[in-house]
Parts: sequence; C-alpha cells; structure tokens
Amino acid sequence: MKKDNIFIDIITGKIKTDILYQDDLVTAFHDKNPKAPVHVLIVPNKLIPTVNDVTDQDEQMLGRLFTVAAKIAKFNNIHNSGYRLIINCNYHSGQEVYHIHMHLLGGQFLGPLLSII
Ligand code: 5GP
Repeated sequence: MKKDNIFIDIITGKIKTDILYQDDLVTAFHDKNPKAPVHVLIVPNKLIPTVNDVTDQDEQMLGRLFTVAAKIAKFNNIHNSGYRLIINCNYHSGQEVYHIHMHLLGGQFLGPLLSII
C-alpha cells in the first residue's frame, strides 16, 4: 500500500524543517532517523512517486540530485573519505515515502552495500 508522503509539506515550508539546500528543482534536508553521521535526503520539488514514474522531462532534475549531493558531501567534508547515494524504488527496496528521494550517507565506514533481512 502506497502511503501519503510528507516531503511536499517540507518542501513548501508547511512543516518546519531545517532546509540545507533548495533551488527551483530540488530540496535537501536531514533525514529524521539518521543511519550515519551524515544522512541527508535530496528530493525533487515536483512529486514523482518512484523511479518507475520518471520521464525524459525529468532528466535535468535527476542530474541536479547528483550535483547537489556532491556539493553537500563537500560541505560536510566527506567528499574524499566517501559516501553512498541510495534511491529506493517500491516495496522490495524498503521505500517508505513515495516521493523520489536520494539518500546521501557518510561520515563513517558504511560497510557492505546490502543487508538483506
Ligand atoms: P525510503 O525508505 O523511502 O527510501 O526513505 C524515507 C526516509 O525518509 C527514511 O529514512 C525516513 O527516516 C525519512 N523520513 C520519513 N519521514 C520524514 C520526515 O517527516 N522528516 C524527515 N526529515 N525525514 C523523514
């Protein structure tokens, strides 16, 4: 079952959250349940539920997710030590919020890519 997402309310300022970065295409803010010392979510301003829903018109926005991730990694001084970018899609990935978002995780050694329960 797809749940409502809260990210639109964060992007529009309806829910007060520390916004780390915002422009015409994307918004970045801290994950509320951080899984690493740096755990930032970078989210398109436009609601796109999953990667399955992206279109050719979204390519500029999808590229912006990466350029903003690189800027935030540098700002947090984790660009040389390294970090992980994750985008979940649908149930088997564990996607909780149905509004595409990129997780930026770093600040410690992150271990193997997958933990399968
Ligand atoms: P997903 O599993 O969908 O890839 O990741 C959703 C992420 O959104 C989770 O890591 C969760 O902690 C985060 N999250 C869910 N609700 C909120 C919220 O209201 N505020 C913030 N800052 N993060 C949230």
